[in-house]
Amino acid sequence: MEDWKQFTQDQRIAYFSMEIGLKAEIPTYSGGLGVLAGDTIKSAADLRIPMIAVTLLYRKGYFRQHFNSDGWQQESDIIWQPEKYMQRLPTKTLVTIEKRDVKIQAWLHTVKSPAGGRLPVLFLDTDIPGNAEEDRKITDHLYGGGLDLRLKQEIVLGIGGARILQALNFAIKKYHMNEGHASLLTIELLNKARVPIESALEECNSSNAQQVMDQCVFTTHTPVEAGHDRFPYDLAERILPPEVPIEFLKKISGDDHLNMTILALKLSKYINGVAKRHGEVSQNLFPGFEIHAITNGIHPFTWCSPFFVNLYDKYLPGWANEPELLVRADIIPDEELWENHCGAKALFFHYIKEVTGKELNPDLLTIGFARRAATYKRGDLIFKDIDRLLEIGRGKLQFVFGGKSHPQDEEGKKVIQRIIKQAYDLRGEIDLIYLENYNMDIASRFIPGVDIWLNNPMRPLEASGTSGMKAALNGVPNFSVLDGWWIEGHMEGVTGWSIGPPPTEVDQEVGRAEEDLEDMYQKLENIIIPLYYNDRKGWIKVMKNAIGKNAYYFNTHVMMRRYVTDAYIH
Ligand SMILES: *Cc1c(COP(=O)(O)O)cnc(C)c1O
Repeated sequence: MEDWKQFTQDQRIAYFSMEIGLKAEIPTYSGGLGVLAGDTIKSAADLRIPMIAVTLLYRKGYFRQHFNSDGWQQESDIIWQPEKYMQRLPTKTLVTIEKRDVKIQAWLHTVKSPAGGRLPVLFLDTDIPGNAEEDRKITDHLYGGGLDLRLKQEIVLGIGGARILQALNFAIKKYHMNEGHASLLTIELLNKARVPIESALEECNSSNAQQVMDQCVFTTHTPVEAGHDRFPYDLAERILPPEVPIEFLKKISGDDHLNMTILALKLSKYINGVAKRHGEVSQNLFPGFEIHAITNGIHPFTWCSPFFVNLYDKYLPGWANEPELLVRADIIPDEELWENHCGAKALFFHYIKEVTGKELNPDLLTIGFARRAATYKRGDLIFKDIDRLLEIGRGKLQFVFGGKSHPQDEEGKKVIQRIIKQAYDLRGEIDLIYLENYNMDIASRFIPGVDIWLNNPMRPLEASGTSGMKAALNGVPNFSVLDGWWIEGHMEGVTGWSIGPPPTEVDQEVGRAEEDLEDMYQKLENIIIPLYYNDRKGWIKVMKNAIGKNAYYFNTHVMMRRYVTDAYIH
C-alpha cells in the first residue's frame, strides 16, 4: 500500500480538474477534457514533475450508453469499485454547503510511470455516513443534475480540494485550474492568506491578493461565451459557504452572474488557451487579460496501439519518453508500417464483430469519427447529401462512429439517432456502424484501427481537439476542419487533409456547412480515395508524415515541458 506521506516531501503543483480520465476502469471522465487531464498527469509522472492532482470520485461514473431500437440514447449508472484502484485516506475536511456541514474524504490513487515516477491523484468523496442523505449524493455523477448540484460539486472541488491538501500537509507551489470548475479555490486561498476581502476588492492588487495570484495558473478550454460556467447570485447566496463573500464575487466575477471563468482569470497570474488559435479566440473574448497558448497533447504510450509500440520500440527506441524521436518515422520500412496498421485494423474489426456481430471488409477505406456527440461537432454532416455520398463511396468507403451525448442534450441525441438511421438507409451500399458506449478503452482500439480520422466541428468551437493526435500517433492521417490543433498540424496532402476554408479572422462564423460539405466530398472523391486505392506508397508516405510531423510534437510530454517553463517555475 502506498503511503501518501512520501508525497508531502517536495513542493508540488496542485492540478485541479472536474474530470480526470486515467483509464476506462475509473469512469470519472466524460470526454476530451478529462482524458487530457489524465494524459497530463501521466506525462508529469514520466517526467517526474512534482504534481498532485485533485478531482471528484463519481461513484456512478458519467454513464453507460445504450441505444434503443429507435437509435435513441439510454443511460445507466456505471457500477465500479473505487477500493480496487485507490486507498481511502483517514483525513477528512469540512465545507459548508446550503448552510449544512458536509464532510469530505479523499481517496488516493497513485499513477506509476514505467520510467519510475509516482504521482498522487486525490479523488474527493462526500458519500460519508453522517452527511445528510442529499449531500452524500453530491459526488455521485459527473455533470449530472442541474446548476445547484454543479455549484455544490465545484465547492467540493475548489474549496474542499484546497482544504484537504492543507489537512494532509501538502506543500503547494502552484494551483493549476484545468478549466473554471475549480475557481472557488482562489477564494479559499485569499481567505487562507487572510486577505482582508475588502482590500482584495481593490482590483485584486493588495500584496496578499498578489501572492494568491502568483500561485494560480488557469487553463481555459471554452471558446464561446455561453460555454462558461455561471451561476445566478441568488443560487450562489443560498449554496455557498458564509466565508465566500458574495459582494466580493459580484465585484470581481460579473454583476449579474457568478462567472467561474472570470473569477479564475482575475486571480491567476498565468492564463492560457489550449491551442494557438484558441489563445487568440480567448484573448478576444476576454480583453484586458494576457492570455497565452499551450497546445494540448496526448500521452504517447497510452494512445499507441500495441502494434505501433512494437514498431517504434524496434526502430525508434526510447520514443515513449522522448516522443521527439518519432521525427525519424521515415526510417520505418513501408511494408512493416502497413502490416502493423493492418494489424491494428484487424484487431478493431474483430472487436466490432464481437460486440455488434457485423463484419467489416478490411480492404475498404475506413473512415472513423468518435468523440462526445455535442451538436457543434456535426457528426452527421457527411450524410447531408446521401446521393452524392453514395456516388463517391459505394464499394469504396465504410464508416465507424462512436460517442456519447450528455444525458440532457436532446439535440446531441438527435445527431446520434440520425447517424444510426443513416446506417439503416445505407445498408447494402455503404457499411456504417455506430458503436455503443465510447470510452477510453474503446478509443484505444478504435482510433488506430481506421484509415482516416474525420473531424468537422463548427469553427472556432474546437478549442484544441486531441483525438486527431491519437490518430496521428498511430499513422492514421487526419481529415479535418481547420480549427484547434489541426491549424498547427496540418500540411495539405502531407500530414493529412483540411475540410473547408483556411482559418482567417478570429471572429469567424460558426456555420458554413455547405462550403465544408462540398470540400469534404470533393477531396474524398478526387484525392483521398484515389490515393488510398491507387498509390499505396503515397498513402504510406502520408501515414509516416502524420507520425513524423504531427505525433512527434503534439503530445503531453512536449506540452508539460511548456507548462513547467512558462507557467510553473515563475
Ligand atoms: C481523446 C478522447 C476524446 C476527445 O476527442 P476529441 O475528438 O478531441 O473531442 C473524447 N473521448 C474519449 C474517450 C477520448 O479518448
